[in-house]
Amino acid sequence: PTNINAIADEYLRLAYHGLRAKDKSFNATLNTDFDESIGLINVAGQDMGRVILNLITNALHAISPNSKMPEKTVKDPTIWISTKKVGDQVIIKIKDNGSGIPKEIVDKIFQPFFTTKPSGQGTGLGLSMSYDIVRSHGGDLKVESQEGEGTTFTISIPK
Ligand code: ADP
Ligand code: MG
Repeated sequence: PTNINAIADEYLRLAYHGLRAKDKSFNATLNTDFDESIGLINVAGQDMGRVILNLITNALHAISPNSKMPEKTVKDPTIWISTKKVGDQVIIKIKDNGSGIPKEIVDKIFQPFFTTKPSGQGTGLGLSMSYDIVRSHGGDLKVESQEGEGTTFTISIPK
């Protein structure tokens, strides 16, 4: 039995403070909206934690200052995480107001080894692994993104 809200909250804070330890000038707003009625659900907590951490890490990257392209630095960088019980599903949303994903590549992001990050900075495995984990729980992982506006990943898993 896993407390998804606790995992999401803990990983968000850990990942954010990890980044801030490397770059003290980085500030972001973290917004959480957890549905406490979800309670404990039967999923492999480690696996689902890894999915959530992958999505949080990507969101933090997307809102981090871009030293190579300072004009692309995000204004009021923000991450939103919400959970909600809808019928027999648990919905977890991880949203950022970062770079967004260009239309031309959005179909490729779940492919293993697909990355737009500089070499050494991304394996391109996070989303493909996350997708496999969510599907193996009978759930789904979807993305909505607008270039220059931000990105939302939505995990849905049966409770
Ligand atoms: P990696 O993070 O190692 O590059 P992922 O599988 O986690 O690999 O992500 C693949 C690619 O999807 C990223 O390189 C990036 O181009 C894009 N991406 C994923 N999440 C986001 C996001 N929140 N905002 C913008 N682009 C994203
Ligand atoms: Mg990643």
